[in-house]
Amino acid sequence: MDAAGLLEGVRAGRRAQVARAITLVESTAPRHRAAARELLTELAGADGPPAVRVGISGVPGVGKSTFIEALGSRLTAAGHRVGVLAVDPSSVRTGGSVLGDKTRMSRLSADPAAFIRPSPSAGTLGGVARATTQAMTVLEAAGYDVVLVETVGVGQSEVTVAGMVDTFLFLTLARTGDQLQGIKKGILEIADVIAVNKADGDREGEARGAARELAGALRMVRGHGEWAPPVVTCSGLHDVGVDDVWQKVLDHRDHLGEGGLTTKRAEQQLDFTWALVRDELDQRLRHSAGVKAVQADVRAAVLAGELTAPLAADRLLEAYDQD
Ligand code: GDP
Repeated sequence: MDAAGLLEGVRAGRRAQVARAITLVESTAPRHRAAARELLTELAGADGPPAVRVGISGVPGVGKSTFIEALGSRLTAAGHRVGVLAVDPSSVRTGGSVLGDKTRMSRLSADPAAFIRPSPSAGTLGGVARATTQAMTVLEAAGYDVVLVETVGVGQSEVTVAGMVDTFLFLTLARTGDQLQGIKKGILEIADVIAVNKADGDREGEARGAARELAGALRMVRGHGEWAPPVVTCSGLHDVGVDDVWQKVLDHRDHLGEGGLTTKRAEQQLDFTWALVRDELDQRLRHSAGVKAVQADVRAAVLAGELTAPLAADRLLEAYDQD
């Protein structure tokens, strides 16, 4: 790849080069590493205000892609350029993907002011997160002023995405009473805005009731003086209330303020730094010749009950340190 051409193409917002740049920064191949680093260093210095980074999460079927299609179309109609990235933990395990389906967001896919990228399917969740964070840098340098990061509602991926965006939006369905328990407490702790989706037809009243209950539950989770995550209702399918959800996202940004946003991003960079270190150490461990040499023996000994886990770990680490 011609590095200078790629850099220039990204800065000019040319789609083909944006796509190639993302492929480069997603690559786990050691031979792409130096070029990816260089590109990211050049791109990170982009001027202009930072893009609005929003994480969007919810269980499969909650209506994420329908919602993003409605929101994204609204935003591009208002003159924004919208990037959509995905962090899909299922792609990590199976190579297949819950979020990657090509037929999703057909309208937004055809929109010249939108750029949609499915989840990278290689490696660990940490690796996918690294790729997504770096893809975000590419999109921002290419002039996408809104970046939506979609993830499926399964545990760790949400915490990971919350750690790379300014505002975390959680989509849920009407649930009341006991069903509320089903919404993991952890989610309520990281959500900045909550929207009860599919509030349409005969489900509208139910959705409003659920939103009120959820708002009550949240007051118990969050401390006084903190941002109180607003709970609203919407219908992505009928494009009702989607503008209101967006306004809440902007309100949350206002609440952070310029200083708060800068601090939040700086702390995220620090977390990201350590995540990169852990990722790298993990890779080195995997490729260590010393570890490879003793691995089979240690495995057999542990399986045979001849070696305890702590001693086995010591042996592997010693082998690694001697590399
Ligand atoms: P995702 O898995 O979270 O991305 O969900 P999808 O956007 O693919 O939607 C799952 C199903 O719910 C589809 O059949 C959609 O047509 C439907 N759906 C999505 N949003 C709404 C909504 O606002 N109202 C209603 N009634 N159905 C919706």
